[in-house]
Amino acid sequence: METQKKDIRALTKEQLRDFFVSQGDKAFRGNQVYEWLWQKSAHSFEAMTNISKETRQMLEENFVINHIRVDQMQRSSDGTIKNAVRLHDGLVVESVLIPTETRTTACVSSQVGCSLDCRFCATARLKRMRNLNPDEIYDQVVAIDNESRLYFDRPLSNIVFMGMGEPLMNYNNVLQAIEKITSPEGLGMSPKRITLSTSGVPKMIRKMADEEVKFKLAVSLHSAIDEVRTSIMPFNSTFPLKDLREALEYWYSKTKNRITYEYVVWQGINDTQEAVDALVKFCKFAPSKVNLIEYNPIDDGEFQQASESAIKMYQDTLERNGITVTVRRSRGKDIDAACGQLANKS
Ligand code: SF4
Repeated sequence: METQKKDIRALTKEQLRDFFVSQGDKAFRGNQVYEWLWQKSAHSFEAMTNISKETRQMLEENFVINHIRVDQMQRSSDGTIKNAVRLHDGLVVESVLIPTETRTTACVSSQVGCSLDCRFCATARLKRMRNLNPDEIYDQVVAIDNESRLYFDRPLSNIVFMGMGEPLMNYNNVLQAIEKITSPEGLGMSPKRITLSTSGVPKMIRKMADEEVKFKLAVSLHSAIDEVRTSIMPFNSTFPLKDLREALEYWYSKTKNRITYEYVVWQGINDTQEAVDALVKFCKFAPSKVNLIEYNPIDDGEFQQASESAIKMYQDTLERNGITVTVRRSRGKDIDAACGQLANKS
């Protein structure tokens, strides 16, 4: 019976060095292979040209490289690119490249499907099948970096964890991926260019604060009134706003990094003065800014974007209270690549 080969990228650099020593080779061979795996994103052992043929064969016999494959790439009329990414076990996730005048942002997935059940989100319709491994998250970023260089003639500048899944429900793997993305032995990107967007898991926000992470935090808030938030994001009954608020205050006290609230205004749900007043109050607990995001209706049309006047009411009230607010127009709508639309439909 053939024994299952191990994914070589599940090994740390130290483990890889130890492996070579156990094979009677030099530890630095582990460094060379590690560099091929991460910095050079080699898809095969064959590609590792400064490693001897015998060693490559030995690696082939013991390990696999579970690389992702971009199965389908769709381009929007506004330049946005959506990748359907096939994983080694055949499952598919999506990631998106969003170009603007000055930056290219990768929106990456952290889970296949999602265990949370936000009622406005297409991904919620896919049950959570599994967490992505650190290398699968890393590979999405590399694929988008390559596309950015190819189509826009510049490297990727920013990353948001805002694709499929709740990143804080896959905490260890997401942090390991970020570690590789920011390491000089990986992509060497600044953590300040990375934003982790969560629906708000208080315990994990505290954990990140304790670990003094350097990337930015965004919270999909959508309502600062418990009753309303629970009706659209049912897990809010388990993690109510009071717990979230305390965790965010703790985050700020430890990191001194202001928080971004992602917020969609929907007709008949949160387009009232009472809703905006509650948001203003919530924003005062820790330095923060608000992104008002345009909504992209998903199939059943249960949720509808609020009127321009409701958005204006939000904008004016927030500004009057000294809170920075940005209105984010949606990108990639025509290819279902916009926020909340990722659902493996392509
Ligand atoms: S909005 Fe995010 S957390 Fe909520 S169901 Fe969709 S993917 Fe999951």
